[in-house]
Amino acid sequence: MIHRLEIATSSRAQMVDVTREVQRAVSESGVQEGFCHIYVPHTTAGIAINENADPSVAQDILAVLEKIAPRGGSYRHLEGNADSHIKASIVGSSETVLIEGGKLVLGTWQGLFLCEFDGPRRRRLLVKVVEAA
Ligand code: ZN
Repeated sequence: MIHRLEIATSSRAQMVDVTREVQRAVSESGVQEGFCHIYVPHTTAGIAINENADPSVAQDILAVLEKIAPRGGSYRHLEGNADSHIKASIVGSSETVLIEGGKLVLGTWQGLFLCEFDGPRRRRLLVKVVEAA
């Protein structure tokens, strides 16, 4: 089964810490050893693993992405969100995290972030938990 999480974002560009929600899906699966695949089925949002202790790290990441692909830049895509597509491509749509003892194996400062680039919206996050010895 695939766990389908719904995450509401509140601004156009935002990194939402979803570590707790993903851990809940792992706990519900009952899997103790294995891995967890997290997938974002959107073209203007992505998923990243990075520091969730100091919120300024996420702010810096968003600021640098904005420099790489500014909102008001000159693009061919005429929907007005070309920058969002580019930022989502840079961040990527999936992550895989190992599971040990029923817990996500993340570094002390690491968290999972849903990266919103064209919000606010309701976003889906698909989580597939796989048992592996
Ligand atoms: Zn578009």
